[in-house]
Amino acid sequence: MAIRFPIYLDNHATTPIDPRVLDAMLPYFTEKFGNSASRQHQFGWEAESGVELARKQVAELINANPKEIIFTSGATESINLALKGIALAYSEKGKHIITTQIEHKAVLDTCKRLEKWGFKVDYVQVDKYGLVDPDEIKKRITKETILVSVMFANNEIGTIEPIEEIGKICAEMNVLFHTDAAQALGKIPIDVQRMNIDLMSMSAHKLYGPKGVGALFIKKKMPKIKIVPIIDGGGHENGLRSGTLNVPGIVGFGKACEIAKNEMMEESERLKKLRDKLQDGIMSQIEDVYLNGHPERRLPNNLNLSFDGVESEAIMMGMKEIAVSSGSACSSASVEKSHVLKAIGLNDDLIAGAIRFGLGRFNTEEEIDYAINRVVEVVNNLRNISPRYKLKKEATKI
Ligand SMILES: *Cc1c(COP(=O)(O)O)cnc(C)c1O
Repeated sequence: MAIRFPIYLDNHATTPIDPRVLDAMLPYFTEKFGNSASRQHQFGWEAESGVELARKQVAELINANPKEIIFTSGATESINLALKGIALAYSEKGKHIITTQIEHKAVLDTCKRLEKWGFKVDYVQVDKYGLVDPDEIKKRITKETILVSVMFANNEIGTIEPIEEIGKICAEMNVLFHTDAAQALGKIPIDVQRMNIDLMSMSAHKLYGPKGVGALFIKKKMPKIKIVPIIDGGGHENGLRSGTLNVPGIVGFGKACEIAKNEMMEESERLKKLRDKLQDGIMSQIEDVYLNGHPERRLPNNLNLSFDGVESEAIMMGMKEIAVSSGSACSSASVEKSHVLKAIGLNDDLIAGAIRFGLGRFNTEEEIDYAINRVVEVVNNLRNISPRYKLKKEATKI
């Protein structure tokens, strides 16, 4: 099959909508356009039944009860609702929160806000693979601790955290446990019951669903988890998230979860093979390339490599027909070095030379073969003209 350019290898940033998801959504823009809160007529009932099916589909993917799912505008909003909502509801009990240094900005910036509001936040270190040590979490829990928030899988290096162990510790010590599962959902198995997860943030657009929709799982348990809503209004979603529901988006999210439930195992095996091929293809042909993240405990679709002596921006410029991302995030004005790569102890050179490949459902083997050749070619070319790399090589020869 001929390759269609550009090749998309940035599936951690977002994924395209699966055509089956789009088909499920379309009627909800036109014939079934009702407001799911309209209880008096057919239009409302139809929209409501679409939403309730989606709630079931999301719940089934994570072994939850549909009543435990609150729809939001995405993982960022879910995280804000979980962290701020818990902080405000439990501030009488204590003002201490534990999280990690490698969380997504949605968690880190929310925690910074909470610090401004008078909460104390511990940012736990990770090891060189990006793994959190559950004992480190345990040691930091005090009587004042109201919440532990650790991401399920990292969006840059793919490392999968020991969520079940951390969940067990939190349950034993009676502290609420939230996890940001935006990257893990639909990629690796999640069981909120077995893993003792109290709250979990999810996003549709990372698993072939639409953008601008997500959910927060809130465990039904005794005593009931209290959350102060961030958005007040008509009392939708149990009063936790007011505002007319994004019915087509929610329907698409549900369908995406149903597909993931049925196909995740097969798909992750296929993507892991392709990812390993990409990794071996590059690393066997060029030297001074380093794997970032855990060699085994990582998402099957993730590959993060540092190319010593070259800038990732230059690599990307050299292969514009392949969409990947670099180890630095351009935030509005400044170029900021990846806090994740810093936290795992990479030096500035290796951060500057980091490329993240994110494979997805629609990538083909031909695309991977093409990408291997291009990466090797571009990196070799850049190193040939890089005085920094040559000097370094000569210095190490002595
Ligand atoms: C994408 C992502 C988010 C933000 O999700 P949105 O739905 O885009 O708000 C949060 N955390 C992680 C780990 C992510 O990958």
